[in-house]
Amino acid sequence: MKVGIIGSGHVGLVAGACLAEIGHSLLCTDSDEAKIRQLTAGTVPIYEPGLEDLVHRNAAAGRLGFTSSLAETVRATDILFICVGTPTSETGEANLYYVDSVATEIGALLTSPKIIVDKSTVPVRTGANVRRAVERSSGRSDFEVVSNPEFLREGSAVEDFLFPDRIVVGVESERGAAAMRELYRPIVEQSFELARRRVPRLPSVPLIVTTVSSAELIKHAANSFLALKISYINALASVCELAGADVEEVAEGLGLDRRIGKAFLKAGAGYGGYCLPKDIAAFHQICRELGYDFRLLREVMEINRTAKQRIVQKVADALWVLRGKTIAVLGLAFKPNTDDMRAAPSIDIIRALQEQGALIRAYDPHAMETAKAHLSDVTYCRSPYEAAEGAHALVLLTEWEEFRDLDLERLRRAMRLPVAVDGRNALDPERMREAGFDYECVGRPRRPAARRGESPHA
Ligand code: NAD
Repeated sequence: MKVGIIGSGHVGLVAGACLAEIGHSLLCTDSDEAKIRQLTAGTVPIYEPGLEDLVHRNAAAGRLGFTSSLAETVRATDILFICVGTPTSETGEANLYYVDSVATEIGALLTSPKIIVDKSTVPVRTGANVRRAVERSSGRSDFEVVSNPEFLREGSAVEDFLFPDRIVVGVESERGAAAMRELYRPIVEQSFELARRRVPRLPSVPLIVTTVSSAELIKHAANSFLALKISYINALASVCELAGADVEEVAEGLGLDRRIGKAFLKAGAGYGGYCLPKDIAAFHQICRELGYDFRLLREVMEINRTAKQRIVQKVADALWVLRGKTIAVLGLAFKPNTDDMRAAPSIDIIRALQEQGALIRAYDPHAMETAKAHLSDVTYCRSPYEAAEGAHALVLLTEWEEFRDLDLERLRRAMRLPVAVDGRNALDPERMREAGFDYECVGRPRRPAARRGESPHA
């Protein structure tokens, strides 16, 4: 099928490359001409495991092309995916400016019936507004509007797109449903080459067909529920600290219940990223507009704000006065395996430490370049050990795999004080204490540090 992608960012580019991989003919566009120039030259502008290979392979096979012309994209394709950003506005609701302008632009270019698929995360009822915008600018009504929310996670986006738990398509008519079933057939049947080579092979993927409104609501409901799980375990972490219980043990005992599940029960410095914070805020707002005050969601957001604040408090408790103290921050990205810094908890935590006069030395395997747009007055370092040099405390904020095998002796020797606050419960408390660290994490009992001669206030 001939498919156009409008907005070639984290979602659009992955969707484009994956749909090409399963055999379709893809043309991707973006209003950012520099991005299109980069992609045309073979440079993938984001770090996402497996994406570069997929882009190169499918571009070389002639199934994946890039253009800065929306007109060319509309002319050459039958199905158009809207994958532009839906950032949060001041008051929390989704800013639908980009979706509205793309819908209006598509309408002005429409000369034959197309299927217009909204993949951006949008509040319920956006589909109806997309239809109206296209109708107004095109003067026609022989097109389909489909809602096809995306559930991929940054860091495993390619895997998630090709091997999803489910595909949701919200349609206006059987014509839209048939086109989407045909488009996703290789994924549903797991019949594309990578799926056939996969060991073990996955069973077929459920594709559910709903109304447009239900599909839109499923996405907001899913992200809000995931945020709720994280805030739930973070609230439990606070209770564990007060009760002397261990949140890791509690999470294991909870998560083994299949009705609850283990995923998203990891206590730490709170959720962040481009999706959860803005989607839960937008869902809260649209519910309010519809006449329902979803107070539970407000509490989820509040617990998340506190989760970040508690990390800052733990550092302050360990060092007393923060003014003039140097803090080594390990991990900046909102999660491992991505360089995305949008709404990363590290931003709020670092700013709060800086406000109290702390100096920040930071290291992240992939996100230091992207971090520069979000943070100022940070010394970026080439390794965790360089970041630790002369530091009074170390704070871990992203659980990158490489932090699990740190040379703890070397790290401690580089630091002025052996204080470590693990905001992701990613390090082994025993090993940390054996290495002489005064180690704090989230929701776990505090045992005395095994000190090796030095005083924590040296
Ligand atoms: P992004 O910022 O990475 O990409 C959006 C792209 O759209 C940018 O490249 C931007 O230049 C382009 N764009 C903006 N206006 C345009 C226009 N008029 N014409 C053409 N291109 C235009 O954002 P993203 O992370 O890919 O998110 C896109 C949507 O998908 C959002 O609604 C988001 O909530 C949703 N989503 C994101 C994720 C994720 O993990 N990032 C997961 C699921 C859903």
